[in-house]
Amino acid sequence: MKNIKNIKNKYDVIVTGAGIAGVSAAIKAGSMGASVLLIEHYGFVGGMSTAGMVSPFMNHKIDGKPLVNGVFSEIESGMRQNGGMIDNGFLADSFRSVVLELLAKNNVTVLLHSGVISVNKVENCINSLDIWHNNRVEKVEGKVFIDTSGDAHIVYLGDFPWVKGDEKSGHLQALTLFFRMGGIDMTKVADYARSHPEDFMEWMEFDFDFSKILSVAGYYSFIKRAHVEGKLPEEIEYIFFTTLPESGEGSFNTSNVLGLDGSTSFDLTRAELIGRNQVDAVVRLLQEDVPGFEKSYIVETAVQVGVRETRRAVGDYVVTGEDIKSGAKFDDAIARGCYGIDIHGQKGEKSRMEHLDSGVYYEIPLRALIVKDASNLMVAGRNISATREGHSALRIMPTSSAMGEACGAAAAIAAKKNSELRDVKYDEIKNNIIDNIQF
Ligand SMILES: Cc1cc2nc3c(=O)[nH]c(=O)nc-3n(C[C@H](O)[C@H](O)[C@H](O)COP(=O)(O)OP(=O)(O)OC[C@H]3O[C@@H](n4cnc5c(N)ncnc54)[C@H](O)[C@@H]3O)c2cc1C
Repeated sequence: MKNIKNIKNKYDVIVTGAGIAGVSAAIKAGSMGASVLLIEHYGFVGGMSTAGMVSPFMNHKIDGKPLVNGVFSEIESGMRQNGGMIDNGFLADSFRSVVLELLAKNNVTVLLHSGVISVNKVENCINSLDIWHNNRVEKVEGKVFIDTSGDAHIVYLGDFPWVKGDEKSGHLQALTLFFRMGGIDMTKVADYARSHPEDFMEWMEFDFDFSKILSVAGYYSFIKRAHVEGKLPEEIEYIFFTTLPESGEGSFNTSNVLGLDGSTSFDLTRAELIGRNQVDAVVRLLQEDVPGFEKSYIVETAVQVGVRETRRAVGDYVVTGEDIKSGAKFDDAIARGCYGIDIHGQKGEKSRMEHLDSGVYYEIPLRALIVKDASNLMVAGRNISATREGHSALRIMPTSSAMGEACGAAAAIAAKKNSELRDVKYDEIKNNIIDNIQF
């Protein structure tokens, strides 16, 4: 087991949370020679990408050219090589194996089954974290800290600034428990869809190519009837799944858990129960009523309910919805994205999916990764410094990876020079992540 090393009491860079943002940060910092500790609650890496079973990677290409490369491309090509990725879809298991190998290759010390429980700081500088592992608590010192916990845990525990939810209503996006089904007869699914296009979402394509990943979304008439008959909770408004080529397997992003906060254990527990009930109801409906699902069966539900939005750190810059929509560019750009505003609405809130015009992309400034009032704390991924609108675009996996990679580069340079993050020259960071900011 190459990744398991004895934990030392001091590291250049300590990363909390091994989702796609955290692993990208750790791999980058490790590749630049920093000693890196990556701490993760679960017994595996990937966060939402694996525990949440979230796939596929959302669009990050302009005219076929990827905006995100670097560590993200290494993860992608590793998964393609081991047969775990087709088109933009991937298997959680493949992600775990490939990423653990990359972490090992770049000398990252990975500590799974552990968690940060407190942050020790002097004024605005964090000097150590208290880590729970082996049923004891141990202090580990670091020079630079990266919070990729998704919930801004380190920001919160360190009493640095954060916000949560919609600026006016306080709404948080809906939660979703993913699940996978097998035994789907895709020929029958396609026949029904072609003959009832009005039953599906307007963006759906009906020229089904079974050798590719397909997206199916709608079944409105079945949902409507099931609501009337009391067979399906009202929160479920459509059935959405993507298929694995020629496998009869589909991954379902369909449950819709409302009114709960994914950063508290009480709410998460309720969300798991509600999500599971919703999944059972959807599976029953499909098996009993929907053409193509007669012999289908459930393969698995995700390890945890998918959480789209909780706390967001407040950084030196806060990325706004306007930055996203206008394709803003910055002198200190460290990553790019082209995914638009995507808010899965709460009860009483309309969902929004606003794509950017073709060819438009925005940049993300380094300042959004540096936590306000902190001298050595960075953030990336789901807890990035952004307004709710800005966050809804930046949270996707490719962009989270690019932001994580930039954190890793900046942290490695700051640690090597024993300098403050804000004193690291932008050009030096840029040279190390050039693939993610230039075509
Ligand atoms: C239902 C759903 C559908 C989505 N669909 C898509 C999609 O189709 N395409 C796409 O690109 N994106 C999608 N997204 C968005 C994307 O999956 C996430 O925003 C992204 O994966 C977040 O990555 P992250 O690394 O920031 O955080 P996470 O993946 O949440 O990782 C955080 C990690 O930190 C760990 N952690 C937290 N606190 C601690 C602590 N104190 N100590 C130790 N470890 C800790 C957690 O266990 C977790 O592993 C979707 C998200 C959801 C929820």
